Amino acid sequence: MGLNLVFLGLPGSGKGTQALEIAKKFELNLISVGDLLRDECDKKSDLGLKIKKRIDEGELVTLDIIEELLRQNIDSKDGFIFDGIPRNIEQAVLLDKLMQERDARIDLVIEFQISENSIIDRIKHRYICNQCGAILCLNNATDKYCLECGVDDIFKRKDDCSTKAVNNRINVYNEEFHDIKNFYIAKSVLYSIDADRNLEEVTCSIMDLISKSQA
Ligand code: AMP
Repeated sequence: MGLNLVFLGLPGSGKGTQALEIAKKFELNLISVGDLLRDECDKKSDLGLKIKKRIDEGELVTLDIIEELLRQNIDSKDGFIFDGIPRNIEQAVLLDKLMQERDARIDLVIEFQISENSIIDRIKHRYICNQCGAILCLNNATDKYCLECGVDDIFKRKDDCSTKAVNNRINVYNEEFHDIKNFYIAKSVLYSIDADRNLEEVTCSIMDLISKSQA
């Protein structure tokens, strides 16, 4: 399917979870820039160590690294969900350029709207499964196993444990969002959804927007 989507939203707004779900449903290639960066960190290369420092502090990784990473991961296949990019106007322009190089375009940009209080609460309870990559919301401190695949190999992201890093990510998002929003409004591709609802309701809203964008 030649559909290219961008999911925008604060960290913890649920865009990563929905991106996984929608990518499966529509057989789209999921490009989660945060995951790609964390994979690079795991390699413990010089580049990985540089990236890790920025991530741990809640700062954006530089544009040259992001471009390199995208070029490595966007091959000729079309039909992508971009999760976690663009984070600033330079990245929005870059993404457009990369799409144009492939005779493609961003068809639909979905903004996940949610209050900062909900974000902070969600991040507090967010765990990741080391086995299947599921993003979990665990309220009960004793239930520390994956609700998707059942293993007890789950972890909390370091940048989710630091109040300073969480606040920094929220501030960076708020500072940059205005320009990104205007960029996509000018292209008539931006739509907003209420992300402060349960998973199924949010998925329905996204599917609705996808159907309308293809009509
Ligand atoms: P995320 O997994 O989307 O919450 O991103 C976690 C961290 O990875 C961010 O706080 C940034 O440090 C880094 N990061 C993710 N996406 C980008 C991006 N598009 N540009 C620069 N840094 C990013």
